[in-house]
This record gives sequence, C-alpha cells and structure tokens, in this order.
Amino acid sequence: MCAEAVELARDAAAQAAHPHPLGEYLGAVAEGDRLVTHFFAGEEPGYPGWRWGVTVARAARARYVTVDEVALLPGPDALLAPEWVPWSERLRPGDLGPGDLLPAEGDDPRLEPGFVPPPGEEIVEEDAEEAGLIRRGGVADIAGELGLGRRRVLSWYGLQDAADRWEEEFGPETPMAQAAPASCLSCGFLMPMAGALRQAFGVCANEFSPADGRVVSLAYGCGAHSEAAVTPKAAQPAPPVIDHLAADPL
Ligand code: SF4
Repeated sequence: MCAEAVELARDAAAQAAHPHPLGEYLGAVAEGDRLVTHFFAGEEPGYPGWRWGVTVARAARARYVTVDEVALLPGPDALLAPEWVPWSERLRPGDLGPGDLLPAEGDDPRLEPGFVPPPGEEIVEEDAEEAGLIRRGGVADIAGELGLGRRRVLSWYGLQDAADRWEEEFGPETPMAQAAPASCLSCGFLMPMAGALRQAFGVCANEFSPADGRVVSLAYGCGAHSEAAVTPKAAQPAPPVIDHLAADPL
C-alpha cells in the first residue's frame, strides 16, 4: 500500500515545492516495514540534481497510508557545497588582521618547551603584561636578560619549516637570484641574524631591493647588490658660451 501511494506522495511534494513545479517521478525506496520513500525530480533554481523525497507510512493494522516526511534531498549527481573545514584549518598567511588572536596550540610542533621559571617565580597572569614575561629581581629576571625568558621556543621542526619557507621566496633558485651579479653573502646591505639559522640566512636592508626587510638566504642575490658594477655618471654638457647678442655675421 505504501509503494502504491504515489499520488499521495506527489500531492505532498507539490505542496512543498510550490511555487516551483514538480519534476517527474523517480521511483521509490523501502525504508522499513510499512515505510516507503517516493522521489520526484526537483525544479528549484540553484539546486541541480536535488529531488523531493516523500516518506509515507502505514501504521500496523491501519487501512490508510499517511505522509510521514517531505524533504528536498541531494541526488547522486546533485550540486553540493564543499565539505566544511574548521576555521583554524582555513587560515592562510596574511589572513590575520589587527585585533585578531591566533594562539599557538599547546602541542604545536613548531614549538618546544623553553625556559621554566624556578618555583616561586612563576608568572602570574595579573602582572604578566605589566612585567613583560618575567618578574623583576629574580632568577627569571636574569634569564630574561639573557634571552631565556620564553616559555616556548622554536623546535627543530619549526626552524626547518621557516627555513624552507624563506628559501622558497628568497633563495638561490629564484629567478632574481639566478640573474644576480653576486650573492647576499658578499653584499654590504646584508644584516646578520642571530641564532641557529645565521649561517644560512640574513636580513636585507636595501630599500631598492625586492627583499628589503625580509629574511634572505645567503645564496640569494639581486641587482641591488652593494658591489654590483658601478654605473658611470652621464657626462655633463658644457655650459653654453654666449659671446654676443647680435646676429652672427656670415
Ligand atoms: S641588496 Fe640584494 S644582494 Fe644585497 S642583501 Fe639585499 S637582496 Fe641580497
């Protein structure tokens, strides 16, 4: 009886689809005992491949079939939205704006434990902002002066990750470096870096370079290299000699 209740299902689907017309009958699927879903093609603009599903049911020992549910459902070729991706996985470099917060996860592989303050000198939240990362006058203070005051520091993975990224943008394989007269290693505009990566990277301080203010590989280079060929200055024309104001006698 449920499988034969096509007209009942069609009326319900047409009512739900109003004011759009209902498409052709697409068939039925048995969902369970006395429970069948009939499908009709949908004609809704913006929903290609979707179809109206009307589930009809008959109670035990009942003589009538009733409509249980009507829904617009995606068919096998339906146009669907892409799978939802959490916001934290959608972020891209440059997405962070003023006022945005993006704290690193506790298990961020780019970081590893750094300085652990001695007992009694733990940083308390209330004065953390005022005192910076450390309290004045203790072991933590001295550690901070020595650059050891950070609770987490870059891990080996974090260093490698940064080095790969920098090298891709300002490394020896870039077209600019390939055409450069010499590498950054011998350039007077290179500012050395501190830390583990100083043997491979520095900071460019030439305002005319595309890498000004950026971390560059020592094997990078550009045409603004400090020792690039010196451009000869154009010869100055001699000042005009005006020896009289009358017409030349020819
Ligand atoms: S000016 Fe060019 S060669 Fe010199 S440090 Fe900057 S990028 Fe390297």
